[in-house]
Amino acid sequence: MQMVTTLHGKHIALVSQYELRDPRTNGDYIRAYCHIHGSDHQRSLSIHRSSGWGHCFNATCNAVVLVSEWNPSVAARLLHSAETGNSFRFPPSFPFAPERLPLALQPVLLHAPQPAAKWQQEEQKTLLALEDQLHTDLFSSRRAYAYLMERGVPVQVAQQTGVGYLAANRVSQCTAAEQRSLVRRWAARMLFPLFSPYGRGYIGRSLWQWRPGMNEQVHKTLLERENGPRRWIKTNPAGWFCAPFEQIASSIILVEGAFDRLALLTAGFDPTEVVALAGTALQIDWLPPQVKTIVLALDGDEGGQEASRRLADQLGQEGFSVKVCPPPQDRWGKDWNERWRRIGSASVLPLRKTCSALRSA
Ligand SMILES: [Zn+2]
Repeated sequence: MQMVTTLHGKHIALVSQYELRDPRTNGDYIRAYCHIHGSDHQRSLSIHRSSGWGHCFNATCNAVVLVSEWNPSVAARLLHSAETGNSFRFPPSFPFAPERLPLALQPVLLHAPQPAAKWQQEEQKTLLALEDQLHTDLFSSRRAYAYLMERGVPVQVAQQTGVGYLAANRVSQCTAAEQRSLVRRWAARMLFPLFSPYGRGYIGRSLWQWRPGMNEQVHKTLLERENGPRRWIKTNPAGWFCAPFEQIASSIILVEGAFDRLALLTAGFDPTEVVALAGTALQIDWLPPQVKTIVLALDGDEGGQEASRRLADQLGQEGFSVKVCPPPQDRWGKDWNERWRRIGSASVLPLRKTCSALRSA
């Protein structure tokens, strides 16, 4: 066990699951005898299994605990901050009410993941096993190649980030019937690898009936009118389209879409510094401990702006240094990919300025 004190003077006991005394499962919670105040009468320590956060109900103890193995990224950030004496700030008060116990203690923004259904686990495994074929198909598919070209992204850039394509004829090549049925909904999709603390996943963009020259809006309308497949689907777990968490840079640019990330990488930004949310909310506890600075470059539409304001607030409270850099409000498009396609390298100048200002700060 290691005690950590936050900037607001809160004490948190980082414990290992092996320290828990005679733990019992109780729904989403683990109850254990509290080894912090040393009681054997009641299992007064209640810990939320998915988030790792817990609390001792004993009024004289009131310990706040985090089980390191169950939430390694937050545990790492707590330790890192304790050692360096900076930047892990909790809100001034913990938003849990002792009278409403047992609630999970969620001082940051902890979203317990939806447990994956059996078929989702199988789907994830099947896709990961097809990884090499997905990469081969990306290079051999004319449609994928043309689609990337029209998005302004060379196939090599996509390939370097692990993007793949599932050619329609792959489905019939799967020998097991179960595999075929799992893979079918991913056919004719461009697949983007996703990372999360809960494992790897994919998000897939349908290129069903897409033809060169067809713009996004026309394709969207076609998919809807023809009762075609959904434009985007995800595995469970999903996650962010980014570098593996341990490789992420200390200063990152956060964008919304997978193609926004590809556009920025094509423009010369480093794969370790651009993170695309790809439809998964920003969860602060996912950010690896080395991340210190965040440039919020979400879409320029109303939804993106509103999300930027909210996130800038939350991230600031958590001790991150934050800059907001939305795409400029002009006629060249609301996201980085659209702007990249239309005005090329001029589109990323605002981001370059923001990033270099941060570096010299
Ligand atoms: Zn206790």
